[in-house]
Amino acid sequence: MEKTLDLVLNNETLHITVIRKKQNKRMYLRLKNGQPVITCPMRCSDRAVLEFVGKQEAWIRRQRAKEAAAKLRHQGENGERMYWLGKPYDVSVEPASRSRMVFDGEKIVFYLKEDTEAERKAAFRSAAEKQMQMFIDHYRGEWDEKICDASRIPHPVIRMRDMSSRWGSCSRHKGEIHMSVQLMHYPPVCTNAVLLHEYAHLLVSDHSPAFYAVVLRHMPEYRDIHRLLKQNL
Ligand SMILES: [Zn+2]
Repeated sequence: MEKTLDLVLNNETLHITVIRKKQNKRMYLRLKNGQPVITCPMRCSDRAVLEFVGKQEAWIRRQRAKEAAAKLRHQGENGERMYWLGKPYDVSVEPASRSRMVFDGEKIVFYLKEDTEAERKAAFRSAAEKQMQMFIDHYRGEWDEKICDASRIPHPVIRMRDMSSRWGSCSRHKGEIHMSVQLMHYPPVCTNAVLLHEYAHLLVSDHSPAFYAVVLRHMPEYRDIHRLLKQNL
């Protein structure tokens, strides 16, 4: 039996995975991606688990520091990779006073205040937004003209978001388009295809044949490009 319990410790919410099994004789704590995992006997109460983890605060802190150090040491062998504009890069992590993502030849270096998922995401987002803004500035002129001006509708406001469940979204009545910064993992044509897709929604809200007629008229290769987005880069 597995469940998750939340525990606020030192202003941080820990998500504790609790695994209860008959054959477990005692409570045992380990960390997985920095979060506590408890294995314990079936009869062990939630309260007992929370008390146990609460007492291990110092251990959790030490263990996380050790894991971060080990990760830094092994970064070369680990061969962690990241796709940027459709190209794979080796990734390394360096401690720094200000978090940022930097290109170093064929390598991407994350300089991080703390080696946490949140710091990394923020560093990626900031680099991705800069890159994406350039693409949007470059690509939007064509769609402003061919979609908006041609139909006498105002040019949309385009914003960027860190969305992982979709590549873009369009609010027709607000005249707003949102683009996911996650697109920066993919070749630039993908950003343009998603941009056109959202512009087409300014004319047709749904994904009807009328919608795809607009998209394919302006980008006959749309379906091939969109297929690239099905890969998990
Ligand atoms: Zn759509």
